[in-house]
Amino acid sequence: MSAAEPGSVADLRRRLLAAERIVVFTGAGVSTESGIPDFRSPGTGLWSRMRPIPFDEFLADDAVRQESWRRRFEHGGAIESASPNRGHRAVAQLVAEGRCHTVITQNIDGLHQASGIAPQQVVELHGNGTYATCLSCEQRFELDALEAQFDAAGRIDPCPSCGGIIKAATISFGQAMPIGAMALAEAAINDCDLCLTLGSSLSVFPAAAFPQRAVELGASLIIINREETPLDPLADLRLGTEIGPTLGEALAVG
Ligand code: NAD
Repeated sequence: MSAAEPGSVADLRRRLLAAERIVVFTGAGVSTESGIPDFRSPGTGLWSRMRPIPFDEFLADDAVRQESWRRRFEHGGAIESASPNRGHRAVAQLVAEGRCHTVITQNIDGLHQASGIAPQQVVELHGNGTYATCLSCEQRFELDALEAQFDAAGRIDPCPSCGGIIKAATISFGQAMPIGAMALAEAAINDCDLCLTLGSSLSVFPAAAFPQRAVELGASLIIINREETPLDPLADLRLGTEIGPTLGEALAVG
């Protein structure tokens, strides 16, 4: 890739430095370089190995809930042992420099916060997979304790306080989106001059509507994603390269 041609890292750098109110919108692809598989990458994506569990099935059937917990403890280790990669660090630099105020993420791994971004500047559209809550009384449960219970009893029991269903604090397919997070994301998109989209297939709605809305409101759109996305035709710049090396080089972040 030559430094002068459109679609180059130099072009990316120029556009990032020219923007003043960047919103970064991230998907699972920003965390694959930290060792957490995404959903849809061919071969390595989790869904090439298992079907997602919709919220209504989780609510309706205890056996489905226990299967969901089994998966969480089998695959969740990737999240627990992960640390931020070069892409997360580059995003954190944009925030530290004051050119990005809000990171909207579909990720549930907490790695943007772990990279040093204040939690109030990270909007988690799909919740957080590093803890669990009771769906009725909202009591918080730590995963270490739940995993110990699952190992000992082979199941996760209802909430000891109210008898409600305990679920990882993520938003499943068919589950209502978090109202506060949606409002924060909308406000950030309304105010941005550039939406930088990293590692998302842009196929999960309503989340994927945010970059599109930014374009409708006159902001620029940059997409960095290995595979093509439905919003590529709207992008001012699209790079099909690895996020960490690309963004790291553009912003001189190691
Ligand atoms: P997705 O799996 O649909 O798409 C990820 C995209 O990232 C793919 O198009 C892939 O080509 C691209 N990609 C992967 N690694 C890349 C890299 N290093 N550089 C450039 N591109 C790369 O993920 P999505 O769009 O976020 O939507 C699916 C859902 O996945 C979200 O709701 C999210 O909650 C959930 N999810 C989150 C995690 C996580 O928290 N880390 C992991 C798996 C799934």
